[in-house]
Amino acid sequence: MANETDAPISIACTNCHNQVEKTREWLHANEEFKCPTCGHSMRSERAAVVRHIEAIQKAIAEIGAGADSSASRKLVSRRGVSG
Ligand SMILES: [Zn+2]
Repeated sequence: MANETDAPISIACTNCHNQVEKTREWLHANEEFKCPTCGHSMRSERAAVVRHIEAIQKAIAEIGAGADSSASRKLVSRRGVSG
């Protein structure tokens, strides 16, 4: 069984466009990384993106876990008012 968190993510160097593969785990721990080809130091936007995605997924899971029909109806009506 493949674990998706172990799959490397390719990041293109903003300076030399070399593709650097990093794992999600690595991106969690490091927001900055250095290109092994040109030595250019970059801030990993992917790390922020991965965090955002996981925060959203967590929020969705929490909504799903706590949702009954009245809660989801409330969400729809709130959307209608604000939008
Ligand atoms: Zn580079």
